[in-house]
Amino acid sequence: MKTCEIISVGTELLLGDILNTDAQFLAQELAKLGLGVLHQSVVGDNHDRLLKALGQAAERSDIIILSGGLGPTPDDITKEVACEFFSKELVLHEESLERMTKYFKNKGLDMPESNKKQAMLPADCVVFENNNGTAPGLGMEKDGKHILLLPGPPRELKPMFTESAVPYLKQFSDKVIISHNIRTFGIGESAMSQEVEDLLDSENPTVAPYAKDGEALLRVTAMADNEEEAEKLCAPVIEKIRSRLSDYIYGIDYTCIEEAVVEMLKEKGLKLATAESCTGGLIGKRITNISGASSVFDCGIISYSNEIKHKILGVNEDDLKKYGAVSEQVAKQMATGVLKLSGADIAVSVTGIAGPLSDGTNKPVGLSYIALADKDNVWVKKLNTGRKDRDYNRYVNASNALNMVRVYLNKR
Ligand code: ATP
Repeated sequence: MKTCEIISVGTELLLGDILNTDAQFLAQELAKLGLGVLHQSVVGDNHDRLLKALGQAAERSDIIILSGGLGPTPDDITKEVACEFFSKELVLHEESLERMTKYFKNKGLDMPESNKKQAMLPADCVVFENNNGTAPGLGMEKDGKHILLLPGPPRELKPMFTESAVPYLKQFSDKVIISHNIRTFGIGESAMSQEVEDLLDSENPTVAPYAKDGEALLRVTAMADNEEEAEKLCAPVIEKIRSRLSDYIYGIDYTCIEEAVVEMLKEKGLKLATAESCTGGLIGKRITNISGASSVFDCGIISYSNEIKHKILGVNEDDLKKYGAVSEQVAKQMATGVLKLSGADIAVSVTGIAGPLSDGTNKPVGLSYIALADKDNVWVKKLNTGRKDRDYNRYVNASNALNMVRVYLNKR
């Protein structure tokens, strides 16, 4: 199997000004092609260091994928350095020049002289057309080593990779790798791993546990000659996991729990309303991130102050005084209050102390109450993350509220 590595070029990446999402995307896509990435590095826009990085990469790997630095400005040097490394001359690629001229013309602009540099390509390369920008990418070979150049902006890199780099790379991959992510909520990573301990040692497919932001997932990955065979290897293992973790699983290959909740609400033809305090609208935001949410999301009230909890949602003033805003009683009344106010079938509410500072009572930071109401009942759940991290607490509270909706819908 050919070895492969990624070099991300850009001083902005080194300084941490931007997140290296290109490398993440490329590593995931290369794995799907059966090309394991053995090494990743980040190099600034610097001729000598980039040349050195290429030398080191070529000693380790057969295929080197570079992203970034294909722009028209003098600090964009990736192509020039890569060609110097392979001792290739840059010549004008008429077709690319025409495409670029057209690209500017369509925008009602004249192409700046400096952009012409982007149409200078090595004569014997495979050109990757750029349908979302100006810089073409390319693939080139010398003495059995391959270099692929891709533009930095993700909106250019991703389609170019799929449309042009994948066909180029297919010559090297005789295997297909596919992965399925089994996403769970309400079970910790170690408890989840224990349930499937015997499967964690399997080799094809592999089963690997991961944990993130209060969730745990299992990734099942198989390698085979083709997609169909890889799926056949995954299927029985996924079935075993399903039977053992059943209720905790909110979806396979979903990207987030809100996606599962919106899907379930749609299936059941139900509408949701929210009343949020410490999450400040995050549940509503996460639900409305999902396309099609309008058919299942009725309304969200951000009832931050006690006054609004009382005035809009009808929370009893005495209860607010007696039990405090962060209490079971208030959470329940927030949920029933917004349900009454809206035309929804179910409502969920959250009240808690996100931190990092305490709310002045003796209740701990990280404590919250999450309630769910339908027209007949109201349920409440107490949660204490034990953390003082505001973002984490808010996110995990929202996730727990969404999970409460999911569990309710599952049973209904
Ligand atoms: P341009 O023609 O836009 O200059 P380029 O190929 O020269 O493209 P860079 O100049 O390196 O690319 O980066 C342009 C922008 O693309 C960066 O400001 C950043 O927003 C994004 N970008 C670059 N590299 C990455 C990366 N590895 N991950 C995510 N975004 C990136």
